[in-house]
Amino acid sequence: MRICVIGTGYVGLVAGTCFAESGNNVICVDVDEAKIEGLRNGVIPIYEPGLKELVHRNSAEGRLSFTTDLAAAVKESLISFIAVGTPPGEDGSADLKHVLGVAREIGRHMEGFKIIVDKSTVPVGTADKVRQAVQGELDRRGVSLEFDVVSNPEFLKEGAAIDDFMKPDRVVIGADNVRTAEIMKELYSPFMRKTNRLIVMDIRSAEMTKYAANAMLATRISFMNQIANLCELMNADVSAVREGIGSDSRIGYDFLFPGVGYGGSCFPKDVKALIKTAEECGYDFLLLKSVEQVNERQKRLLPEKILGYFGNNGASRPLAGKTIAVWGLSFKPRTDDMREAPSIVIIERLLELGATVRAHDPEAVREARKFFGDRITYSSSNQYDILAEADALAIITEWNEYRNPDFERIRALLRQPVIFDGRNLYKPARMQEIGFEYFSLGRTPTG
Ligand code: NAD
Repeated sequence: MRICVIGTGYVGLVAGTCFAESGNNVICVDVDEAKIEGLRNGVIPIYEPGLKELVHRNSAEGRLSFTTDLAAAVKESLISFIAVGTPPGEDGSADLKHVLGVAREIGRHMEGFKIIVDKSTVPVGTADKVRQAVQGELDRRGVSLEFDVVSNPEFLKEGAAIDDFMKPDRVVIGADNVRTAEIMKELYSPFMRKTNRLIVMDIRSAEMTKYAANAMLATRISFMNQIANLCELMNADVSAVREGIGSDSRIGYDFLFPGVGYGGSCFPKDVKALIKTAEECGYDFLLLKSVEQVNERQKRLLPEKILGYFGNNGASRPLAGKTIAVWGLSFKPRTDDMREAPSIVIIERLLELGATVRAHDPEAVREARKFFGDRITYSSSNQYDILAEADALAIITEWNEYRNPDFERIRALLRQPVIFDGRNLYKPARMQEIGFEYFSLGRTPTG
């Protein structure tokens, strides 16, 4: 099939590349000329395991191309995916200016029957707005052309995006036309080898499904963070509790790890947008408001623990003179994405308290510079370099290389052997044994 994907970000580039990998002819479109120029020369703008090889292969074999020319791409394609960003507006609702801008552009340039697919995460009712935007342009041109709008929310996870796209748990298609639903099924059939979970439903339910999924996952995280905080107060061990509840098949083990709060480009904005959508129809989504509040508090926990350890001497900058080494900046491992990363709140707070911060991250340093500039120092090569003469190590992101480090080396480099672990990577009893002061989340010292 001939497809264009408009918006060549995390979702658009992965989706476009995977559709090309399954034999389709795909044109990826973006307004960012530098990004498109880079991709034409094989430069991948994001870090995503396995993506580079797939882009190179499919480009070389002529199935994948990149352009800023939306008009030409739409004309050549039966299906146009809209995969542009939907950032939160000032009031928390999803800002649809990019989505509707693209819809108008499609209406301005389409010449025959088109299937227009919302791949971006968009609130219930957006497909109607997309339809109106396209129709408005067709009316303005004085032409009568058929088109269908489909909702096809994306569930990939950054860091495992290729695998998630190629072997999805499910694909959701919201369509109001059987013929179009059949075309979408055909497009996705190569990805249905793991499970045949292609779920066709009405458009509004498909739009809601994406928000409900992210809201549920965010809720599990906030829930478990509160359980961990309570465990800590009550001398219970959250890891044992997780084992205990996860074994219940109704609950399951996933998404029950306590941490420094959820971040990224999806959960925070989608939770906000769903609260806003509810508000717009006069419904107070109390549960999600709490999920969000808990998350904001959780992001502040690590700096408070650090402050508690070094002592709040009442000075305006009580951590002045202290150096904190940080492992991990991206909002989760295996991505360079820094959008809404908890590290932003944690590091800003440490700086506010007067600390000097040195940070290591294998992939996110370039992105992190956009947030902290020269206010902290960085390393992307050696995770131990930043430890020399630091007063403590704080772990924010659970990259694999932090899971089994050389503790002797850490101890030799730090001024004192203190670790604040926001991801519960090590066993408290073992850390005590090897002489570290070790602070994690919701666990007993013997855990
Ligand atoms: P992104 O910011 O990485 O990419 C968006 C791209 O769209 C950018 O390259 C931007 O230049 C381009 N763009 C903006 N306006 C354009 C226009 N008028 N024409 C062409 N290109 C334009 O965003 P993303 O992370 O890929 O997210 C895209 C959508 O997918 C969002 O709605 C997001 O919520 C959703 N989503 C994201 C993820 C994820 O893990 N990142 C997962 C599932 C769903």
